[in-house]
Amino acid sequence: MKIRDLEQGKKKYPDVKFLTYKDRKRILVTGGAGFVGSHLVDRLMMEGHEVTVVDNFFTGRKRNVEHWIGHENFELLHHDIVNPLYIEVDEIYHLACPASPPNYMYNPIKTIKTSTLGTINMLGLAKRVRARVLLASTSEVYGDPEQHPQTEDYWGHVNPIGPRACYDEGKRVAETMCYAYNKQENVEVRVARIFNTFGPRMHMNDGRVVSNFILQALQNESITVYGDGTQTRSFQYVSDLVDGLMRLMASNYSLPINLGNPEEHTIMDFAQIIKNLVGGESRIVTKKPMQDDPQRRRPDITRANKYLNWEPKVPMMVGINKTIEYFRNELRRSRHSERN
Ligand code: NAD
Ligand code: UDP
Ligand code: UDP
Repeated sequence: MKIRDLEQGKKKYPDVKFLTYKDRKRILVTGGAGFVGSHLVDRLMMEGHEVTVVDNFFTGRKRNVEHWIGHENFELLHHDIVNPLYIEVDEIYHLACPASPPNYMYNPIKTIKTSTLGTINMLGLAKRVRARVLLASTSEVYGDPEQHPQTEDYWGHVNPIGPRACYDEGKRVAETMCYAYNKQENVEVRVARIFNTFGPRMHMNDGRVVSNFILQALQNESITVYGDGTQTRSFQYVSDLVDGLMRLMASNYSLPINLGNPEEHTIMDFAQIIKNLVGGESRIVTKKPMQDDPQRRRPDITRANKYLNWEPKVPMMVGINKTIEYFRNELRRSRHSERN
């Protein structure tokens, strides 16, 4: 163990708890070096659990978890979940999967393999070691929804052969596999249908709307709205999501649960909001629409509220300001490393 890193971690997170051995769980986080995964890892580590991160670093980065490297409760495995994994754990948060459209469309076959073979491997592991597994599913299982807002019993409207299918259908079959392992093998499963989430540690080149708009505004570039901007999204801050994921894992509720912030905006409004918050001289321009882009999206969170006593706490503007600050620093950092 590197004492320096442990001390750094403690300084950054002074409220790290030290659980007694019997309360401490061995927790696997697949995709733990990614955006959401790394925030989840922080919370689990702060609670004093033993955390193993498995990541192939496709979209994740070591930098997101580097403050834990050297901590005696932390392990980072460079591994692709498409291949089997034999370790001993009590709980699995299964997040590994590229999440932004440009990333998951970059290599659709790999995206499908990650959601199918990767999820089978995690369920096989859960079955062998009797671990509970939580799947990070998505609002994309609803496709371009005909029901608004979306409740969990809506079956969805997905184009099975469109450009988003590798992700949407991959997650849909991942859910199917969870419930098949639950019914046939008694594997305990939890399924979170996550709606658009943002915050620090999103990748600069991630390509999702929040990072694109903020970076464009910070650099006085045109803010690119795909289509006419009347499509809507509802954005949640990452700390709210992590809270929801942990509540879901701890709960007795095994059917899918929406986790998202119901505050809905058109993408054109959202561009204006970011422009106003950042300031600067960016123009808002429209580009050609994305094929099969869902037109309206807002979670119905009645279920999460009822069974997890959960609702988002961070107002969108507060979260956006924190994220703007993060990207400001990232830009400084990349300019600095270009100079040196
Ligand atoms: P991300 O791209 O930052 O993180 C995904 C992580 O998984 C990365 O660290 C990546 O390297 C890793 N990974 C990908 N394929 C892998 C493989 N085959 N083997 C091992 N590791 C692999 O994305 P994110 O936003 O943090 O998303 C995390 C999860 O949450 C994903 O499953 C995503 O589908 C789900 N989700 C996210 C959102 C959102 O808005 N952020 C919305 C809905 C669902
Ligand atoms: N698996 C794994 N780790 C384990 C147990 C299983 O990665 O600890 C993988 C294994 O490679 C298998 C998959 O999970 O392909 C599904 O496991 P299951 O036991 O359901 O299938 P089987 O091995 O019977 O085909
Ligand atoms: N979008 C946009 N400009 C961008 C990136 C995205 O107008 O630079 C739009 C995109 O077409 C979609 C919405 O913003 O309607 C959310 O896109 P994102 O990729 O963030 O997430 P998802 O489509 O998966 O919800």
